[in-house]
Amino acid sequence: LADEILAKRKKFLNPALFLYYKKHVNIVEGKMQYLFDETGRRYLDAFAGIVTVSVGHCHPHVVDAVIRQSKLLQHTTTIYLHHAIADYAEALVKKMPGDLKVVYFVNSGSEANDMAMMMARLYSGSFDIVALRNAYHGMSPATMGLTAHNTWKYNVPQGFGVHHVLNPDPYRGPFGADGKKYAADLSNLIESSTPGRIAGFFAETIQGVGGAVELAPGYLSAAYDIVRKAGGVCVADEVQTGFGRTGSHFWGFETQGVIPDIVTLAKGIGNGLPMAAVVTTPEIASVMNQRLHFNTYGGNPVCSAAGHAVLEVLEKEQRQHHCAVVGDHLLKRLHALQEKHDIIGHVRGRGLMLGVELVSDRMTKTPAKAETLQLFETIKDLGVLVGKGGLHGNVFRIKPPMCFTLEDADFLVDVMDHAMSKL
Ligand code: PMP
Repeated sequence: LADEILAKRKKFLNPALFLYYKKHVNIVEGKMQYLFDETGRRYLDAFAGIVTVSVGHCHPHVVDAVIRQSKLLQHTTTIYLHHAIADYAEALVKKMPGDLKVVYFVNSGSEANDMAMMMARLYSGSFDIVALRNAYHGMSPATMGLTAHNTWKYNVPQGFGVHHVLNPDPYRGPFGADGKKYAADLSNLIESSTPGRIAGFFAETIQGVGGAVELAPGYLSAAYDIVRKAGGVCVADEVQTGFGRTGSHFWGFETQGVIPDIVTLAKGIGNGLPMAAVVTTPEIASVMNQRLHFNTYGGNPVCSAAGHAVLEVLEKEQRQHHCAVVGDHLLKRLHALQEKHDIIGHVRGRGLMLGVELVSDRMTKTPAKAETLQLFETIKDLGVLVGKGGLHGNVFRIKPPMCFTLEDADFLVDVMDHAMSKL
């Protein structure tokens, strides 16, 4: 069966669509934190379909909500009244701090960031946008410009007016964990390469695709001050870090004590259904009143029902707290693993958004690319699916569904230990 699918993919799908493993896994079923292949073999999922299955594969409450709504009404668009989109917007806004009170629904993280770029430009009257090196914000032509990863760049016009500044990476950056020092680079850039005014600034608080890089403490508050002084708006990309995954806070930006002007959401918001959103202040949202705006599927009744159900599960099952408990345990065990295996250069992250960076030499921090690939395959053969990422592809990304248990955490670390011992 797997071979047949592979042959069809090769024949009918865009060849750029890559597969994660050399020896492929054919997934046929998902239940909470587990995936099952065609032979019935169970895998522990520590990557959640790229950090998207937030509350668990086929979580019964989400499935029920989707079925109920699908039977009643699947689609109208926003040109008619329907309760699901309004009810869900109300519930989502309740989770936001400050004046972040207006929601616009779209269908993907790229679309959400596209819209945030447009809002920032309309509101500020400026054009230049700043993002961090090592960022991932999407693959649409505009957001590809925000993304700063050579893997995800085509040689096409993209993201006009986007600049990238020094990434406040405590492990690889020149200023260690001194967030304020990195912010000086942002000031310099605005002074030297823009008219002195900018439209906006984008950042993930923990860079996802970039390898679970947690921004140096103090960076965002310093950066937000600089951006606002230059007339720009601050955009938090919460596509991966939102909905309690960091454990300590519901939103990633809260870990840095800031409140953004625009927040973009996708992935975990819908537990796998195509759903995404831009949340902003009434003042910023009002700039779009000059024209009509429309999105065929944005806030579709079924996706809204799924989003609402996700919020209910997070609350009822206390998932944020759970992420904190399991994440702390995982961090402790991963640090112990680092003591044992020289190949682990850095362990980082928060809650269930963790990264393990592999290096061939701890002093030079040379990325252990080949070893990462080999371990990645062995870990899968031992029954665990982890993610990989980072600019050099040498970081294991551990971002499971938020129902991942302490026992799952132990199993994952034991499997990594075993695989590293065999290296
Ligand atoms: N922002 C972040 C932080 C992401 O991780 C991603 C997807 N990996 C996106 C935006 C883009 O989302 P999508 O693939 O839904 O367009």
